[in-house]
Amino acid sequence: MIEGADKYWNPILETMPQEKLRALQLIKFKKIVQWAYDHSKFHRQLYAEAGMEPGDIKTFEDIAKVPEVEKAMMRDIQRKDPFPYGDALCVPLEKVTEFHQTSGTTGQPVYQPDTWQDWEWWSESWSYIMYAQGFRDTDRIFIPFGYNIFVAYWAGHYAGEKMGCEVVPGGVLDTKARILKMQELEATAMMATPTYVLGMADAARRDLGLDPAKDLHISKILCAGEPGASIPSTKKRMEKAWGAKVYDHVGATEIGAWGYECTAQPGGLHVNEAFFLVEIEDIETGEIITEPGRRGKLIMTALDREAQPCVRFDSKDIAEWAAEPCPCGRTFRWIKGGVVGRADDITKVKGVLLAPSAIEEVVRSFSELSDEFEVIVDKKGDVDDITLKVELVPEAVDQRGEVEARLVDQLRLKTNLRYNLEFHEYNTLPRYLVKARRFKDLRRTHGE
Ligand SMILES: [Zn+2]
Repeated sequence: MIEGADKYWNPILETMPQEKLRALQLIKFKKIVQWAYDHSKFHRQLYAEAGMEPGDIKTFEDIAKVPEVEKAMMRDIQRKDPFPYGDALCVPLEKVTEFHQTSGTTGQPVYQPDTWQDWEWWSESWSYIMYAQGFRDTDRIFIPFGYNIFVAYWAGHYAGEKMGCEVVPGGVLDTKARILKMQELEATAMMATPTYVLGMADAARRDLGLDPAKDLHISKILCAGEPGASIPSTKKRMEKAWGAKVYDHVGATEIGAWGYECTAQPGGLHVNEAFFLVEIEDIETGEIITEPGRRGKLIMTALDREAQPCVRFDSKDIAEWAAEPCPCGRTFRWIKGGVVGRADDITKVKGVLLAPSAIEEVVRSFSELSDEFEVIVDKKGDVDDITLKVELVPEAVDQRGEVEARLVDQLRLKTNLRYNLEFHEYNTLPRYLVKARRFKDLRRTHGE
């Protein structure tokens, strides 16, 4: 038996020395750039405009010569021939077997074609994630999610099957029916967004009189879609509500499933460095950051994806490298605290940089407050103004004064800002089913 065979999905790649991993990434990077250059008009033109050819990449440092791709560029070339993908498609249309698209919350959606080989690659990359989080062939995984045109959970479903788990698709059932089915089948694991994980626990208690931690058998939850599982206080809430371990993972339609938490839970996410090249770029100078502790945006390359390659894609996700190796023994580098925000969401309020996840971390650390909250940034005259709306749980309604004082202190300590606090009656703030929109910057809608 190979050493670590029971611990890692791919013991050879996941424990490969860093210099060998870099060499592997460079070989794969050259190959995918050549592939994109040879098969896509879009990439060939992009590289020609930057005055480069694939042969110019000789060392790791040369990678920075390859121009970055923005989401808007993909949007512009699509809905044209070969319809509907346009000039970035690298295979004949008949080779495309999967269609997905981005959610389009920030503009027109981008279409994502995949070949069967790409689809195998998706489930393989999800197997790294799930195996690292303790999923085994003895698990019965319930997926309480309505699969559709978005890639979410499709690849988790196929990876579960590939690993020999039993997969129960909880698609069109409503929340109550999903909970009852999980109970009936004694499901051991599930996958959902943090908002839904908390929402389901709430519904189980309120509508069914069930305590998920006692009456269900879920021992691990794989989260996606929102940063909550990497925010310690939100993770703790989910783990307490379900009596289960909660693990984070990150991925995107255009990139792939590139990062995951392991059972050692070092306080961050491994990057699958065998499948992806992740670069962290200084937002202001564009310099590639290789040292730990400095935040920047992630520039992503999927090293093996063929239909519509993802080469130096500007993900707008913000993260930093961790300094220490992870105790799990994987040599894949990890990002500390996960993805801490989006370049688009991190905003300056009264001259201070504010990431919405910092507010979530504070609010969710108060057991007297419910899971819901809302943040509204606006301008009063020339001055920025932030309102934070929270709800006291019914058992804490008479502790408002004391909670308010502690909340003001914690918020100032963690975010360096003062807030107008509004206490709302329990269950009156908007509830979100899958992904929450709790942060509203009205300064932008006013045309700033
Ligand atoms: Zn680890």
